[in-house]
Amino acid sequence: MFDFWRRALFFPFAFLLFSLLAWITVGALAATLLFSVFLLIYIVLHLRQLEALDCWLADSDKCMVPDGSGLWGDVFTRLNRMVRQHRKEHEQHVAALQHMEQATSALPEGVAILDEAYHIEWCNPLAEQHFGLDSKRDIGQQITYLARQPEFVKYLAMHEFSEPLILNGARQDGLTLSIKLIPYGANKLLLISRDITHLERIETMRRDFVANVSHELRTPLTVVNGFVETLHDMPSLENSMARRALHLMGEQMYRMERLVDDLLTLSKLENTLNALQEETVDVPGLLRTLHQEGQSLSAGKHTLRLELASNCALLGNTDELRSAFSNLISNAIHYTPQGGEILVSWHEQGDQPVFSVQDSGIGIAPQHIPRLTERFYRVDSSRSRETGGTGLGLAIVKHIANRHQARLEIASGEGEGSTFSIVFSASRRLLLCAEDATTDYMPKTDIQ
Ligand code: ADP
Repeated sequence: MFDFWRRALFFPFAFLLFSLLAWITVGALAATLLFSVFLLIYIVLHLRQLEALDCWLADSDKCMVPDGSGLWGDVFTRLNRMVRQHRKEHEQHVAALQHMEQATSALPEGVAILDEAYHIEWCNPLAEQHFGLDSKRDIGQQITYLARQPEFVKYLAMHEFSEPLILNGARQDGLTLSIKLIPYGANKLLLISRDITHLERIETMRRDFVANVSHELRTPLTVVNGFVETLHDMPSLENSMARRALHLMGEQMYRMERLVDDLLTLSKLENTLNALQEETVDVPGLLRTLHQEGQSLSAGKHTLRLELASNCALLGNTDELRSAFSNLISNAIHYTPQGGEILVSWHEQGDQPVFSVQDSGIGIAPQHIPRLTERFYRVDSSRSRETGGTGLGLAIVKHIANRHQARLEIASGEGEGSTFSIVFSASRRLLLCAEDATTDYMPKTDIQ
């Protein structure tokens, strides 16, 4: 800093000294004039350097940093170094960006970055292909404006991205996409789309196979079951061994029929062409019916209570929800020993409607909980068979929950009872009009 002032003030002081000396010989007026001329020349020289800097700043991309002498020379040299460093970093950033772009272009998945209002900020070529976008034209546009499939628009509107969306016939017929949205950073969303057409075809073949086999088995089973029942009920059947054998055969036939029914239900739920038929589901009314059915299934062995802490209805499918709710209630009855308590409730967690079944039954050890919704997964196979279980009940419940964008929560401990809850998103919550609501829709109704 000292060096700067020393060099900056050198010439003005030298002019001053020279002018003072001149004062002695040529007088005050001429000396002042001389000093002014020196200063003027000095200022003009600085202004020329400043002009060169201004010119360069106006077009810094094209021109080189100007040359200069003295103090300006030092400034320009430093500026030149900075500019070179900046250009080098810029080139490195551009190269890194190109590298990233090449890498994302090579990704076997479509990737797009969306802001919180679903405006496209960036997308890779595969995302362009999947959604029919043009990365030059469509940046800044809302993605739902360009990809208008109702399921996709609805999925985004739900703001519930824990499960991927399977989109059929997205851009062209026969194309199936699996779409996932991952929130990150400050209100940004990463959209990942995967072409699963091939997988979906194999999965459809598997589903069709299971559905067809189940369907084909149904008729012979019904016929054989009918004969077994007839034979069992024949008064001429004296032999107790034969009667017992027919009784056991009848039980197994019943189990096989239930298995086939559950497999057919699962196939129907899994069929992506079978879209959810939505309607207003009067959940409190439905639960009253299921509560009565539960009581007859329990046959007085349990205390079965119903608590309606909310009177809201749901946007969903009545048959599917009945199946899911009754599966959970019958499980609670089957896995709770005589004298136990079961509480079926309909309430709200914040603005999310929740159906839950709490029992004081045998409970489930923690290591089994993550696998309960797998097909045919049973904690204790012999107990499940005893109760007439097929091992498909919770898989059906999970599917129905997914189709309603709801989540199944399981809280349990061995010997501590269990709570199974289905948590629905707030967007499915419907308020019943006064005339729709029956008088027994009073919140906090507790029924024994
Ligand atoms: P299942 O037809 O065998 O009952 P599910 O799919 O309905 O098949 O249930 C899977 C397994 O989860 C059951 O075999 C049982 O071990 C366990 N389970 C389900 N509900 C309960 C419950 N309320 N209490 C204890 N265990 C349960």
